[in-house]
Amino acid sequence: MIAPAPRPASAIVIGAGVVGVATAYAFARRGVAVTLVERREGPGLETSHANGAQLSYLYTDALANPALLSQMPRLALGLVPAFRMRSRLDLDYLRWIAAFLSNCTPERFRTNTLATLRLGLESRIAMEELASAHALDFGLRTAGKMQVYRSEAAWAAAQSVAALKAGPGVVQNALSPAEAARLEPALAEAAEGIHGVLYSPEEAIGDPHLFTCAMHGLLTGSYGVTALFGCDIDRLDPQGDRVVALGADGAEIAADMAIDCSGAEGGKLLRELGIKLPIMPMKGYSFTAPATDHSPSISITDVAQRIVFTRLGDKVRVAGLADLGNTDRSVDPRRSAALLASARHSMPRAAAFDEAGSQWAGLRPMTPDAQPRIARPQPRIAYNLGHGMLGWTLAMGSAERLARLVLD
Ligand SMILES: Cc1cc2nc3c(=O)[nH]c(=O)nc-3n(C[C@H](O)[C@H](O)[C@H](O)COP(=O)(O)OP(=O)(O)OC[C@H]3O[C@@H](n4cnc5c(N)ncnc54)[C@H](O)[C@@H]3O)c2cc1C
Repeated sequence: MIAPAPRPASAIVIGAGVVGVATAYAFARRGVAVTLVERREGPGLETSHANGAQLSYLYTDALANPALLSQMPRLALGLVPAFRMRSRLDLDYLRWIAAFLSNCTPERFRTNTLATLRLGLESRIAMEELASAHALDFGLRTAGKMQVYRSEAAWAAAQSVAALKAGPGVVQNALSPAEAARLEPALAEAAEGIHGVLYSPEEAIGDPHLFTCAMHGLLTGSYGVTALFGCDIDRLDPQGDRVVALGADGAEIAADMAIDCSGAEGGKLLRELGIKLPIMPMKGYSFTAPATDHSPSISITDVAQRIVFTRLGDKVRVAGLADLGNTDRSVDPRRSAALLASARHSMPRAAAFDEAGSQWAGLRPMTPDAQPRIARPQPRIAYNLGHGMLGWTLAMGSAERLARLVLD
């Protein structure tokens, strides 16, 4: 009989994005001595920095779906402005695409969407518990969310997905364009015909970068967590009942367990340990512009354009675009301009677009089935990776899942 894996008394969490800080919290509050290690100079400076800011616990529709499959030839030819697919001949990329395509069946779409919904609902509970236990300042607000559909077929499909998700904790109302515009006057400004709007009044928003900073303060101030910034981990070396994380600068950090929360690069450290995860970066963009009198207060997702609008105080965050297989973190001015044009087209007066600043790009850590990978494959090694388009939404629930798996 195999002995059960021992409960770690100490853990190194690698990566201080939303997933890493949430994981550090889940372990530290269960009494584990946590060292949080981040290669950048502070928390939340990579994909968690300026994402869409939406906590979309119910909008868990998997990217791999039959409708997308029928668009594949146009996608591959670069004819869908929101998407780009790199022509890469490396085997990992081709394998990932093949796995993604195999998830585009109606059955897989349903399974993947419902599995993410379950994690979304767990995440909402975990976030609410965090917020009631600690006064953290990151603009958490139940803003509600509207998914806007601009074709009859898309609207019909959206309603059947909503029916699929119906159950406890899921409040989603189908609204006519006029009903939606009464609740959110900014929608009356939307450029083209809207066929229907799915309104989820309990969806939330929050600034992910402020969250990582607030969590860093909480973890180091109240939970005895040690945070090391500017520490790039090169290798993990499990040695008997310990694991050593070896830094590029020669640092050596030892603990009972190492937890990989390194986002889009997830898997690099694990590969040397014989653990291979299907995580592919999908680059996206955002900008933040001053709000106007016509800015939405409710979060808006224009599904056809794959673009989100989120009101953050006196600003509006706009995010979108999906460049699969792109590993370059820099802002491509052409793609940034494409996002701006798409935002103006979708909701022409939603923000002061002429004053849009803070152009930003990040790499979503995508898995082919839209499921994060949360596991302890070896006694000294665990990971919490691959949160794709919903990492901010799913961070708190994923962290709780991993902590329960390892510690309870
Ligand atoms: C344009 C855009 C919009 C989005 N909008 C939303 C949204 O509205 N809602 C939502 O839920 N999600 C959204 N997402 C997705 C979400 O941002 C990501 O899923 C999430 O940020 C991933 O978090 P993470 O902690 O896994 O990764 P990261 O935030 O990238 O954190 C990983 C950290 O690990 C560090 N690291 C990596 N390797 C090492 C190493 N070897 N040693 C030390 N440190 C290391 C990195 O520096 C980084 O800080 C969006 C993404 C994009 C790009």
